[in-house]
Amino acid sequence: MSNIYPQSLQLHIDGEWLDVEDRDVRHVINPSTGKTISDLPKASIADLDRALNAADRSFPIWRDTPVGERATILRKAAALMRERAPEIGRLMTAEQGKPLAQAIGEVSGSANLFDTMAEEAKRCYGRVLVRPTGQQSFVKYQPVGPVAAFSPWNFPVFTPARKLAAALAAGCSIILKPAEETPASPIEMVRCLIDAGLPSGVAQIVFGDPAQVSSHLIASDVIRKISFTGSVPVGRHLMKLAAEGLKRTTLELGGHAPVLVFEDCDLDKALDLLVAQKYRNAGQVCVSPTRFYVQSGIYEKFATEFTKRAERITVSDGFIDNIGMGPLANPRRPEAMERLISDAKAKGADVRLGGEAMDRDGYFYRPTVLTNVSLDADIMNNEPFGPVAVMRPFDTLDEAIEQANRLPLGLAAYAFTDSLRTANIVGDKIEAGMVAINNLTVSPGDAPFGGVKQSGHGSEDGPDGLKAYMVTKAIHQS
Ligand code: NAD
Repeated sequence: MSNIYPQSLQLHIDGEWLDVEDRDVRHVINPSTGKTISDLPKASIADLDRALNAADRSFPIWRDTPVGERATILRKAAALMRERAPEIGRLMTAEQGKPLAQAIGEVSGSANLFDTMAEEAKRCYGRVLVRPTGQQSFVKYQPVGPVAAFSPWNFPVFTPARKLAAALAAGCSIILKPAEETPASPIEMVRCLIDAGLPSGVAQIVFGDPAQVSSHLIASDVIRKISFTGSVPVGRHLMKLAAEGLKRTTLELGGHAPVLVFEDCDLDKALDLLVAQKYRNAGQVCVSPTRFYVQSGIYEKFATEFTKRAERITVSDGFIDNIGMGPLANPRRPEAMERLISDAKAKGADVRLGGEAMDRDGYFYRPTVLTNVSLDADIMNNEPFGPVAVMRPFDTLDEAIEQANRLPLGLAAYAFTDSLRTANIVGDKIEAGMVAINNLTVSPGDAPFGGVKQSGHGSEDGPDGLKAYMVTKAIHQS
C-alpha cells in the first residue's frame, strides 16, 4: 500500500500545485496500522489570501461561461473520476480505512453527482410574471459568488463532491478544505476537474489548521457562501462566524437515525438491509441506522437474528478482499465507543455482540449490538458514529414516533412496515430531513439531502442543492 500513497501531498491554489516547501506539515495516518504514510502541507495565511484572490478573479469568468460549456467540463471530470476510481479508491482506503470496494463505489457515486448537477444547472429556469403589454418582470437565479466549503473524513470524496458539483454547476468559484486526515482522495478529485479543463482558480483545495482556515476564509469579503458537513459543535461555530458577514450557510451536521421496525414488516428483508447498512464504513455515517426501536412481539427475534448476521461481518484491513468492515478512521472513534459502551453497560444495557476494540494495531473495533439500552445512556442521546446498533422495544405507533422524535437531531429516519397507514403516518410525523420506508436509500443524488433541528439546515443534491448556491433576483422593466 505504501507505494501507492504519495509521500507528500499538495495544495492547489491559483492554478498551481504547491508542495510542502517551507510550509508546516501534518502527518497522514493509515488507520489500519496507526502509522504515518505521508506529509500534508498546511496552507499559510499568505496561501489562503492567494486562494481568495484567485476565487474572486475567476468567479466572473466561470459565472459568464455558458452553462452548456460548464456542464461539458463537469461531465468530463465525472468521466475521469470513473476512469481513475480504482486508484482514487486505493488512496481513500489507505487514509480512511474503509473496504476498497466501498471506496471505489464512493468515487463512482461522486462522479454521478457531477453528471446530475451538470444537467440540473441547464434547467435552472427562472420565471416570467404576468404584466401589462410593454412591461416585463422576471425572476432569475444567479450564482451566489465564491464559496468556502469544509468537508469531513468519513466520506472523503462524496461529501466534498456534493459541494463542488453544485457550486461549480451553479457558476460559483469554490475553495475546498477537506479533512486533513483524508487528503489524497479529494486532491485527486480536484485533479480530475483541472484535467477536464476547469479554468484556473475556479476550484482550489487547501488544508491547514481547520480553525484558522475557516475563520480566515469566512471573514473575507470575497466569500459569499459557506457549506459545511461535520459535527454539531463545529457547525454552530461556523454559523456564528458566517453571521458576522451575514453569509449564507448550508450545514449538514450529525444525526442519530431512528429505525422503527413494526411487527407487520418483512423481517428477513429488513434484517439483511439493516445489518449491511449499519456496519458500512464502520458506522461512521451521518445517516447510519442507529437507534433501533422494535415492536415488542418481534423484539427478541429481531435482536437475535440481527446479532447472528452482525457476527458474520469480517473485520480487517480495507485492502483485504471481501471484508465487511475496516478500522475506524481515527483514534478518537474507538475512544468514543469505549466511553459510550461502558456508560450504556453501567446503565443496564446487555452487550449481545462486540463492545470492545480488537487486539491488533490500528483502530479496529468489533461490530457491536446493545439491547435494552436505557434512555438516559449517553449512546441514546449522542451520535456514536461507530459500528454499534442500540435496541429498545416499543408497543404502539405513537410511542415509536415519540421515541424517534425525542432528540434535538433530525437527519435520516427509517421504518419497516407492510401497513400503508403506518407508512403514511411515519412519513408525515417523523422529524427528519429524509425518511426511508422499507428501504435505506436517503442519498440518491437527485433528491434533497439535509437535516432539520440541530442536524443543520439547507439541502444538498438535486435542484434544491443547486439553488443553495444561487441568489434569486427579480428584474422589472417598463
Ligand atoms: P470535530 O467536531 O472536531 O470535526 C468534525 C469535522 O469538522 C472534521 O472534518 C474537522 O476537520 C472539521 N473541523 C473541525 N473544526 C473545524 C473548524 N474550526 N473549521 C472548519 N472545520 C473544522 O470532530 P471529529 O472527531 O472529526 O468528529 C466527531 C463527530 O463529528 C462525529 O462523532 C460525528 O458526530 C460528527 N461528524 C459528522 C459527519 C457528517 O457526515 N455529518 C462527518 C464527520 C464527523
